[in-house]
Amino acid sequence: MSKFDYDLFVIGAGSGGVRAARLAAQMGKKVAIAEESKPGGTCVVRGCVPKKYLVYGAEYGSSIESSRKYGWSYENLDFNWKKLRDSIQKEVDRLSNIYSNILKKNGAVVYNERAEFIDKNTVILTSSKKKISADTILIAVGGRPWSPDISGVEHAIISDDAFVLEKLPSSILIIGGGYIASEFASIFSGLGVKTTQAYRGKHLLNGFDEDIRLHVGIHQKANGIDVRFNISPIKINVDGNSYDTHFDDGTIITADLVFMATGRRPYTSKLGLERVGVQTDTIGSIIVDEFSKTTAENIYAVGDVTNRINLTPVAIREAQAFIETIYGSKPVEYDHRNIASAVFTRPPIGVVGLNELQAREIYGDNIMVYETTFRPMKNILSGKEDKCFIKLITESAKGKIIGVHIIGDDSPEIIQILGICVKAGLTKADFDNTCAVHPTLAEEIVTLRQRV
Ligand code: NDP
Repeated sequence: MSKFDYDLFVIGAGSGGVRAARLAAQMGKKVAIAEESKPGGTCVVRGCVPKKYLVYGAEYGSSIESSRKYGWSYENLDFNWKKLRDSIQKEVDRLSNIYSNILKKNGAVVYNERAEFIDKNTVILTSSKKKISADTILIAVGGRPWSPDISGVEHAIISDDAFVLEKLPSSILIIGGGYIASEFASIFSGLGVKTTQAYRGKHLLNGFDEDIRLHVGIHQKANGIDVRFNISPIKINVDGNSYDTHFDDGTIITADLVFMATGRRPYTSKLGLERVGVQTDTIGSIIVDEFSKTTAENIYAVGDVTNRINLTPVAIREAQAFIETIYGSKPVEYDHRNIASAVFTRPPIGVVGLNELQAREIYGDNIMVYETTFRPMKNILSGKEDKCFIKLITESAKGKIIGVHIIGDDSPEIIQILGICVKAGLTKADFDNTCAVHPTLAEEIVTLRQRV
């Protein structure tokens, strides 16, 4: 008989927390989970899922235009933001309920309240003041949007707000050059909003392959986004119904709405971590070992709160490894290498493995780089100039594929499969031996011969 109320208490019912709680409950453990917002976390409630629906919504805008060359004609096109927004929110609620029900069905107790640490085995639910003890505690509280502390920043929206806007603005300024800024610039421009994206660097998507960074900038501009580089915001002034954002080079950009997409930070403040010896780094990320164990013996952390690779599927895998570690026969370390990911711009991006700079750092000149740029078949008839770009990087000795970078339609779908190939250590010869599927964009992967 355990001296604690629960075997496992999970703080945060997002992707990682829900997976861990469900698995532990299915194994017969006594489990409870606390969530201060809707179950589902960032991904389901204010991230990947509603974002992807907005991406679909925005894509219709451009495909309607392209379809004219395919023989379609129509008049009086209208877009109703509230209809899209409300449909998405309804779906978010449906999914959130599923998350909640899955937990309950498997025997986990769900507390719809915020939890904070009292000591290393006890949390307090902040609304009901109920104290709960557990043998093991998992922190899976994710991250929150972060904005620089500039004058007038309170006038700007963050990604959480973008999903529930009362009305679509006629113009928007999006600050940032990362995932969220680039995706939302694509979304808003696709929905017909006059969009400006302002980034402090030279090319969007810092950390991505330099050629992908170049191409995404070209595509954003081709989609009508006014992309401004090398400028940092210093203040936002209200001017009647619009906002003037001032930048460090003297530029002033006026827009109906300002959207700060300047990164996310782990949501660790006020959790009481200092009371239980859980250490964090300078931005509040929980420091964990390879088994997701924090600096406190019985407390673990998974997902964005640990700021390793901040992606939903990674949080889920970390949660699974954590459960196997504490309740299985041996510790399991999740391998964070070669994780494929996508950016849902128009066209989208799919990447897996090393970019060219990283590959050169590791292998020096012992790499081979293959690339191709072409106008996809669909765009030829529609008259769109958009080009697809593919880069394949191999290490020279055995021809092992160590990086794939694609910008083009369906690249998120393609990269999922290429992720298997890279993880499995396949070689360029394996790709060359594979017959093409014609006519597709993906066939270029197996017919790629152009070395640079
Ligand atoms: P990112 O780190 O991708 O981008 C933040 C952007 O803000 C960068 O361009 C950064 O510039 C800029 N920035 C930071 N500080 C300032 C400042 N003081 N002034 C001006 N600009 C600033 O964060 P996001 O919030 O876009 O995304 C967070 C994470 O969420 C991503 O890293 C990703 O892991 C995940 N995500 C994944 C998605 C997907 O899988 N499709 C979609 C959305 C999010 P600089 O580059 O110079 O540092």
